[in-house]
Amino acid sequence: MRVFITTDLEGVAGVLLDRQVGGDSPEYQRARRLLTQEVNAAVEGALAGGATEVLVDDGHASGSNFIFEELHPGAEYVMGEARPAWLPGLERGADATFFIGCHAMAGTQGAVRDHTMSSVAWHTMWLNGRPTGEIGLWAAIAGHHGVPCVLVSGCQKACEEAAALMPGLETVVTKRGYSRYSAALTPPERVQAMIRERAEIALRRAKEIAPCRVERPVEIRVEYNNTGFADAVRVIPGRERLDARTIAYRGPDILAAFALL
Ligand SMILES: [Zn+2]
Repeated sequence: MRVFITTDLEGVAGVLLDRQVGGDSPEYQRARRLLTQEVNAAVEGALAGGATEVLVDDGHASGSNFIFEELHPGAEYVMGEARPAWLPGLERGADATFFIGCHAMAGTQGAVRDHTMSSVAWHTMWLNGRPTGEIGLWAAIAGHHGVPCVLVSGCQKACEEAAALMPGLETVVTKRGYSRYSAALTPPERVQAMIRERAEIALRRAKEIAPCRVERPVEIRVEYNNTGFADAVRVIPGRERLDARTIAYRGPDILAAFALL
């Protein structure tokens, strides 16, 4: 059984503040370790659930967040930037996918570090007319490859977003947001134990959970934070400027539309 895991940093237990998600602060180094431990818990759970091959994508920022020498030996890890595809390796197919360390879509009240793709540039995204965040986008790409997302971890709002989109999947709540930058935190040891346990259960239930398939053709609409971001998008076939701040990206399927972003 082949399992693909993608990861982000904002939904990891204990991560709240700007200095925890990048730069060279000691807080970022600690956040990397917490992410690495959550990844290891997910790999352990996947192996216990019957996975024979596990590929894990370091998906936050430039893809160099995992502490390599501390990673679980039972998987392979995709790290680094300038990759040939988003979610690289998933195109070879998998029996299930997990999203670890997720955040909710931009504009979600009570979610920790809610954003979609870029806090600086992106205001709202719609996928075929439905407001969608990164969880929905990754799920649609996985669904294109026929792969169901069976486990999501992140703040409570991220888990609610995932459950609304993919009924029946397993979720692990890492924190309950009070605001964008504050939350009631579950300690890492407990979060990691839950990820291990839920990952194993999720794989045993993988066949019950349907891949998230979006109707074709696909339109991804992005409303940017200001006109300058839309001005900078070159209008080519597949792209249409809908108004001062909004561009539609259209393609015959999710991969083609996503490639135009
Ligand atoms: Zn991120």
